[in-house]
Amino acid sequence: MTKDEAKKRIEKLKETIDYHRHLYHVFDKQEISDSALDSLKKDLFDLEQQFPDLITPDSPTQRIGGEPLDAFEKFEHKKRMTSYYDAFSREDMDNWQDRNEKLLSEGEAQKIEYYCEPKLDGLAIELIYIDSILTIGSTRGDGIIGENVTNNIKTIEAIPLKIKRKEEVIHNLEKKGLKSVADKIRNYNFREIIVRGEAVITKSDFDEINKEREKQGLSLFANPRNLAAGSIRQLDSKITAARHLDSDVYSIVTDMGQETHEEEHLILEAMGFKTNNRYNKLCKNLDEVFEHYYYLQKKREKLPYEVDGVVVSINDNKIFEKLGIIGKAPRAGIALKFPLLEVTTKVNDITVQVGRTGAMTPVAILEPVSVGGVIVSRATLHNEKEIKRLGLKIGDTVVIGRAGDVIPEVIKVFPEFRIGKEHDFKMPKKCPTCNTELVKPETEVVWRCPNKNCFARKIKYFNHFISRSAFNIEGLGGRVVERLIEEGLVKDPADLFDLREGDLILLDRFGEKSARKLVLAIQGKKIIPLSRFIYSLGIRNVGQKTAIDLAKIYKNIHKIKEESLENIEKIHDIGPIVAKSIFDWFHDKSNLEFLDKLKEKKVWYSGNDEGGDKLKGLKFVLTGTLPNYKREEVESIITNLGGEFSSSVSNKTDYVIAGENPGSKYDKAKELGVKIINEEDFVKLFK
Ligand SMILES: [Zn+2]
Repeated sequence: MTKDEAKKRIEKLKETIDYHRHLYHVFDKQEISDSALDSLKKDLFDLEQQFPDLITPDSPTQRIGGEPLDAFEKFEHKKRMTSYYDAFSREDMDNWQDRNEKLLSEGEAQKIEYYCEPKLDGLAIELIYIDSILTIGSTRGDGIIGENVTNNIKTIEAIPLKIKRKEEVIHNLEKKGLKSVADKIRNYNFREIIVRGEAVITKSDFDEINKEREKQGLSLFANPRNLAAGSIRQLDSKITAARHLDSDVYSIVTDMGQETHEEEHLILEAMGFKTNNRYNKLCKNLDEVFEHYYYLQKKREKLPYEVDGVVVSINDNKIFEKLGIIGKAPRAGIALKFPLLEVTTKVNDITVQVGRTGAMTPVAILEPVSVGGVIVSRATLHNEKEIKRLGLKIGDTVVIGRAGDVIPEVIKVFPEFRIGKEHDFKMPKKCPTCNTELVKPETEVVWRCPNKNCFARKIKYFNHFISRSAFNIEGLGGRVVERLIEEGLVKDPADLFDLREGDLILLDRFGEKSARKLVLAIQGKKIIPLSRFIYSLGIRNVGQKTAIDLAKIYKNIHKIKEESLENIEKIHDIGPIVAKSIFDWFHDKSNLEFLDKLKEKKVWYSGNDEGGDKLKGLKFVLTGTLPNYKREEVESIITNLGGEFSSSVSNKTDYVIAGENPGSKYDKAKELGVKIINEEDFVKLFK
């Protein structure tokens, strides 16, 4: 994106986010989910990171929600109450780590450890204790000025009205060898202590309150955070009390000598605060952070509170302070959110997919995006009428959502993000598979291909394309191909190379592991030898033998395309009928488009066009990992040069190429006395 385009998009994002914020906070209304709004904010944040000079003070990323209500006495925080930016992926976390490390010395960067704690979905509060007594309780407000809601906060049973040293807890710290922490609590005079935490409501209380409101015909609270906020900011404390709020305290503002964030948590517990310490963990690196993240993600259903992610902070308080604040948040902390089930992305194209019954389903081709923790690239649009209802154009920014294990759908379109390059989708007049004219009875919404063999024909070509002698994609059996086509995930075999794990997980029979395995298998087959590539095109009358001949003679696709019919006929072993079908195939517009599509996706044949017969008649087997060549590359070199590549060793094998960590094939070769060579020897054979 150019800077100019980014600027325009940033403006539009700001307007849209502000519109939804206002709707939500002032009118208690929601047109899009929290999740979709978060996704828009993330989009804005990422763009601003890319073009930092486009950040303006009025950007939603620069402020903290919730202006103080006039009804409450205003309260100025001694130290600014910040919030956190969101991260959604490993990439986001790696970038965050890199940004921080650049601002630190090498020694400091090496010292970094991360303290992880569940991110509760509640309302941030600050508590001030004077001479051990809870004196002021306030909301965050805009971070500088909050509301004094002391009376309401006093109704929360989990918050101590007076803090005392909990001897038993302190004793335990000593037993664990944390005497220095224990001493900090013992030695501190309790004149003034400021702590911060979250007011929360349990999921069961939330459900109960909403049920009651429904009976009374009142509007429902959108989420527990919404309810906690509404309860704390009540003018009548009796209402707050009736809502049974709970709390979790997680930081100490006052200098009690604490050196790390972990110590703060230990001290808080020893002063009688309710903490989430048993779900917190000190992690040495981001790998450990993610381990804890996945643990909490699994645990989340069972927790009494809504948890929407993990707060990750640099544990060392000195480093934390040194990194300072950017916008509304400290650099040294970040909220690693759990996967969103509704996210925003762009519709790059709309294609039509032919179903088993000939039904045409429009499918949105998306800018790949993570939904519910998996990356997806397709969303169903159901039918033409649905596209009209949504008002969707190709190029639009949309909200896509995923409910359970089904293909994601486009839920909403943001026309405000258009830049003039978007265009309408037109239902094709003819079937994209068989070219038959489409039909639609007046009373129906679905267009159909009336050709009874249409779907079968398509399946047949797919199966040819992925077969052993063509692209040889393992794990992609006939039934899987059928499901992929039925769900609109692939229109032609070139689309296979766009599939993401998430696209597959949504089909039954795929788990995360098997989906990943198949995506890798497909990606590993992007480059195959020319002869197999020609064979894969499914040209009528062109079998393996003819494909090999063509590859040897022409050495590249372009030359075959340019060749005259006369010259093709002259080739030994190729008769006039075969020559005609080769010539015709390369003069068909849709075939050439398919070739272009493959090339664009870098699905092609290996560049070793020089070819030759250097390895003719030799049989090779590979075991282990080679330093410079991937398995597919070795395979294509061998077959291109006339050799044969096999997966098992027999006494017909000429060479076993052995790399690092060779498997049982190595032992078998030894046993049979087959010659074992390394990568260097192999290269010498053909160079
Ligand atoms: Zn058809």
